[in-house]
Amino acid sequence: MQFRPALAAMKPYTPGEQPPPGKFIKLNTNENPFPPPPAVVSAITAAASGPLNRYPDPMATSFRRAAADALGLPGPEWILAGNGSDEILTILVRGFVGEGQSLRLPYPSYILYRTLADIQGASWEQVPFIDNWQLPASFGESREDLRLVLLPNPNSPSGTIVPPQQVSELADSLDCPLVIDEAYVDFAEENCLELVKQNERVLVTRTLSKSYGLAGLRFGFLVAQPHVVAELTKIKDSYNCDMISIAAATAAMHSQDWLAEKVAVLNVTRQRLADELAEMGFDVVPSHANFVWCTHPSGQHKAIYEFLKRSQILVRYMEFPDWGDGLRISVGTDEQIDACLLMIRRFLDQL
Ligand SMILES: *Cc1c(COP(=O)(O)O)cnc(C)c1O
Repeated sequence: MQFRPALAAMKPYTPGEQPPPGKFIKLNTNENPFPPPPAVVSAITAAASGPLNRYPDPMATSFRRAAADALGLPGPEWILAGNGSDEILTILVRGFVGEGQSLRLPYPSYILYRTLADIQGASWEQVPFIDNWQLPASFGESREDLRLVLLPNPNSPSGTIVPPQQVSELADSLDCPLVIDEAYVDFAEENCLELVKQNERVLVTRTLSKSYGLAGLRFGFLVAQPHVVAELTKIKDSYNCDMISIAAATAAMHSQDWLAEKVAVLNVTRQRLADELAEMGFDVVPSHANFVWCTHPSGQHKAIYEFLKRSQILVRYMEFPDWGDGLRISVGTDEQIDACLLMIRRFLDQL
């Protein structure tokens, strides 16, 4: 069968393991350990007895109004809703990066961006972080064929954040749009939404998968200036968000108190996880997200991952060629983190 050469040549993206529910303590894909806001569940139930024989609102306007309100944006025209922020990222890459052109990402970061470039027949340039997860100056250098720069902020797997002031300078130094992937920003103290108002080339993506506990629903969105949203709307599927997810996402945006409460709880647990790992000799990167990245002087990361998995605890073992490996542990409930820490301690004791 004749597929496009770009497709035939590319490696598929491998998402984190998703075992059947209930079997594992799941700390491997940065989901929220808590169920979503109660208002979301009611909204889904109500939507289920709504007019499902009709197509949904193509622009998810109720959601966009609620999100603009919650985020202090001038209006719904600053938002594009999508089927997860992964769809938004797909739309952005399709919108800006053509065959033979290129996008840039830091390294190590979100590998999906490379896959999106590969699908386009475009190339990608990985710029390694320098000491303690700082961006080198070369990350902001323009280049003839460079059409899009993507920065997860906070970054995964490190959980580190580039301050908005520095992101602003980066956007100014680039000729092409800069995507700030804020999948984890609700767990941080700062975000880049203000920069969108100041610079049309700053594009912020958000998701409901992590902080709102809605990974199973698939809903994400873009914040950009209205003319950018209008242009990118041409690319999306006509009905990219369904009636049930629009109702749920709208209710989620109305649940800002729930969000603040859960983020506060998880950030306390995150600190405890980081402190106890450090006590066990791990090198732990200070995190602004709902996970921590850690390495151990023993180098036994893969063995720890496997030991935990045998104990029904899933964390993410990550290996980045030419860079190194380590463990990314999502912040779960206190009980889940206690169980994880106990087993790690047990593993280290038998070394
Ligand atoms: C989880 C994650 C996303 C994906 O979010 P979805 O809305 O679930 O598609 C995007 N970017 C980064 C960096 C992530 O870790």
